[in-house]
Amino acid sequence: MNPVTLEEISALYEKYVMETYARADLLFVRGKGCRLYDSAGKEYLDFAAGIAVCSLGHCHPAVTKAIQEQAAKLVHVSNLFLNEWQPRLAQKLISHGFDGTCFFCNSGAEANEALIKLARKNGSEKGRYEIIVMNDSFHGRTLATLAATGRSKYRKGFAPDMPGFKFVNFNDIDAVRNAITDKTAAVMLEPVQGEGGIIPADGTYLAAVRELCDRNDVMLLFDEVQCGMGRTGSFFAWQSFGVEPDALSMAKALGNGYPIGAMVAKRKYSHVLTPGTHASTFGGTALASAAACAVIDAIDNEKILDNVAKQSKVLMDGLRALSKKYPCIQGVRGRGLMIGAILDQPAGAVLAILRARGMIALSAGENVLRLVPPLNVSDDDCALALKLIDEAFAELCAK
Ligand SMILES: *Cc1c(COP(=O)(O)O)cnc(C)c1O
Repeated sequence: MNPVTLEEISALYEKYVMETYARADLLFVRGKGCRLYDSAGKEYLDFAAGIAVCSLGHCHPAVTKAIQEQAAKLVHVSNLFLNEWQPRLAQKLISHGFDGTCFFCNSGAEANEALIKLARKNGSEKGRYEIIVMNDSFHGRTLATLAATGRSKYRKGFAPDMPGFKFVNFNDIDAVRNAITDKTAAVMLEPVQGEGGIIPADGTYLAAVRELCDRNDVMLLFDEVQCGMGRTGSFFAWQSFGVEPDALSMAKALGNGYPIGAMVAKRKYSHVLTPGTHASTFGGTALASAAACAVIDAIDNEKILDNVAKQSKVLMDGLRALSKKYPCIQGVRGRGLMIGAILDQPAGAVLAILRARGMIALSAGENVLRLVPPLNVSDDDCALALKLIDEAFAELCAK
């Protein structure tokens, strides 16, 4: 076969793939750790990790091995039968500090759908169905998770919104207090808002929401699809805030790129969803679960969380220093290796300069440069990233 070319693949996209993404014209053909290689052989430092998905870097050997071995043995049998990896994965998740049970699915939106269904079913006999959600949140693209997403531009054109969601401002405890009624089933939020602009919850706010929920018989649901799996420095994001939800969703980094999502709920809620009330054909296949088990083992064995704390400080300090040098960087925020630099303009321009210089990063919200590197990023990778970002802003400001 001839070597793959950007022109050939771009033409196929144009003709046969629906245009739902504003893609950069970059064709990656190989990845290793924090590095990506395009069709021309150019190397890139990857601080996007497939949108906070490849948290152990590309093609992590232990995950690759688990996928290869299981793919050759048994891929899928459906949830009408047992498979050896799904309960092992559940046990590994639970053993990281949240006593309960798991439901497996295939994506973040689907994990959040499960949270929403759990809360509605749990509240159904008491007439509690409403879910309080946050402005600037992001919970997915299905109709229910879209209705729960606090950015109206995503909902435009898809009316009517699914009913039952009430929006309040994030980090505003009075707004939650005023929104709770005897119809409220749950409060749902991201401990660190991702797509909305890397906005961490205030610790005191989260603790106060927990207390309000307890007092009013309301469930507290955390969307940890982006901020979970070690991203913020603790295995579950809630652990670094010390505020435990009743149930949480995970997805992005759970399979390091192999698609899998999960809902984890406290044991008290283990029997809310009974046989026949919720399901997923592909949820927790032997292959997906084996991949996720390998991911969790690697996080533990390779002391990934220690590295998150170390490199977080390096990157945050480095970015804060750059914000003194370049006035277009107005601030730095985030938690662990979920980092945002607030700009005075959309991040698109600096992202394009970074790409040309061999680095991939992301935007978030309106004006935020988002860095979500692999969690095993090295000292040298971080030093190189800061150098490239420094050069990119120098070029941007010279324009
Ligand atoms: C990405 C994301 C989702 C949606 O996940 P999909 O796998 O794209 O459905 C939901 N919530 C948060 C916080 C996310 O970052």
